[in-house]
Amino acid sequence: CTIGQALDATVARHGDREALVVPHQGVRWTWRQLADQADAVAAGLLAMGLQPGDRVGIWAPNCAEWVLTQLATARAGLVLVNVNPAYRRSELEYALNKVGCTALVLAPALKTSDYLAIVNDLAPELAASTPGQLQAAALPALRWVVRLGEAATPGMLNFNAIAGLATAASRARLAALGPTLRATDAINIQFTSGTTGHPKGATLTHRNILNNGFFVGEAIRLTEADRLCIPVPLYHCFGMVMGNLGCLTHGATMVYPAEAFDPLAVLQTVQDERCTALYGVPTMFIAELDHPRFAEFDIGSLRTGIMAGSPCPIEVMKRVQAQMHMTEVTIAYGMTETSPVSTQSAVDDPLDKRVSTVGRVQPHLEVKIADEQGRPVPVGTTGELCTRGYSVMQGYWGDPAKTAEAVDAEGWMHTGDLATMDAEGYVNIVGRLKDMVIRGGENVYPREIEEFLYRHPAVQDVQVVGVPDVKYGEELCAWIKLRDGAAATPDEIRDFCRGQIAHYKIPRHIRFVDGFPMTITGKIQKYVMRQETIAALG
Ligand code: ATP
Ligand code: MG
Repeated sequence: CTIGQALDATVARHGDREALVVPHQGVRWTWRQLADQADAVAAGLLAMGLQPGDRVGIWAPNCAEWVLTQLATARAGLVLVNVNPAYRRSELEYALNKVGCTALVLAPALKTSDYLAIVNDLAPELAASTPGQLQAAALPALRWVVRLGEAATPGMLNFNAIAGLATAASRARLAALGPTLRATDAINIQFTSGTTGHPKGATLTHRNILNNGFFVGEAIRLTEADRLCIPVPLYHCFGMVMGNLGCLTHGATMVYPAEAFDPLAVLQTVQDERCTALYGVPTMFIAELDHPRFAEFDIGSLRTGIMAGSPCPIEVMKRVQAQMHMTEVTIAYGMTETSPVSTQSAVDDPLDKRVSTVGRVQPHLEVKIADEQGRPVPVGTTGELCTRGYSVMQGYWGDPAKTAEAVDAEGWMHTGDLATMDAEGYVNIVGRLKDMVIRGGENVYPREIEEFLYRHPAVQDVQVVGVPDVKYGEELCAWIKLRDGAAATPDEIRDFCRGQIAHYKIPRHIRFVDGFPMTITGKIQKYVMRQETIAALG
């Protein structure tokens, strides 16, 4: 079915239960209230002249209007384009033009950047234009700029005014449109995180993301009694699919603790809203656990949740279970191009599998670990993880060549991730193909060395990359963030490794750092680390 039909089903079953809580906006809506508002906005969007298939960008942090726009566009058959809140002028221009957005919904400003200034700078024609009539040289397809918040801004439409534009005709059109929308229609373009370079726009359908949200929720046994705290960005599939659609398909409540990740707001919100589930990338859980005020909060309502997005250290998983009471926490693995989740541990998996693997393949999907020719490798052998099934994207928007490189003729998505699978089907992510280091002919997986160095008492966080080396082709460099007040020297770190890991895996270079270059989703950009290391080494 379509997202609109799924929403109708949830309203029929759980209409008077809480759908959305956003404490910092004072929002507390039931499923019926959310659906009614989404319909009003959808009818308004049609009255603005937007046509099914048109692209509507959203450039905003987590807020109630985000999910409202998500559901309204789905109802009206418009394609929602998630724009990364961290983008600056050139990236915004690239993303909007790449997919030809007709409308852009934007938050005026975020902590670190002034979106209005960026948009006015990119499209100076905006201020003097009539809303809906924009003709900007740099953004040829863009007609509407819609702003969130109360203030009036020249050339822009206020988000709160959209519903008021709806007419009897546009409402009738919306009602007639519903049954004509197909589950296989494109409904969303999501840009990948940009961890390994330029973000790519993955085109996803109702069928792709609605099913994935459903099965992700099943794996953590979400029900209408659950209240899910969503501190991960909505612009990314972790928030909008695993979070919003996971809740929508189970009648659970979506709770947004803050506009952007803030560990204190998460702890406060989990306590105040009695959340039963919590999502996060590993760095978020670490920030919550290590927060100096952690012990002040009563977070005993937590039961389950998902850690995903990048390698999940075993130690962190154990702490989440013991200190955050999330005994049913799971790990999920996936990528934007596969809606996103391909494998996930299950609540009833044995504990050791749940902390040390990314679980097994999700229902109705296939996963294989393949060699360079695409042939399955033997159990326990490292190869590239490939996914096939309902979750695989339609393609990269407007880029059939790149799509063909990623999805082969048999429908397998080649993820670029290296993994192993055991005899019971549990998958272990070894690292990214692009991050694998070949030192003197030996394949080295940085993840393995990182897991080892985490055991050093002075190490709080560590990331390992390969850098060019004249003698060995590549050498390893470890970036280490020390614990507060702890001290260590490179020699001491290397001594710690000696005799414990093979000599060629001991990092030749060690840098002590305060942090790592990261995407807004909290993923470490190793290609940036590599560039910086090469520059520092001269
Ligand atoms: P880009 O493709 O633009 O370089 P990206 O791959 O980080 O960025 P996403 O689609 O957000 O963009 O992330 C998917 C990737 O995240 C996967 O390919 C994998 O490398 C990593 N990943 C996701 N979940 C896990 C996990 N549980 N364990 C290890 N790695 C994970
Ligand atoms: Mg990727």
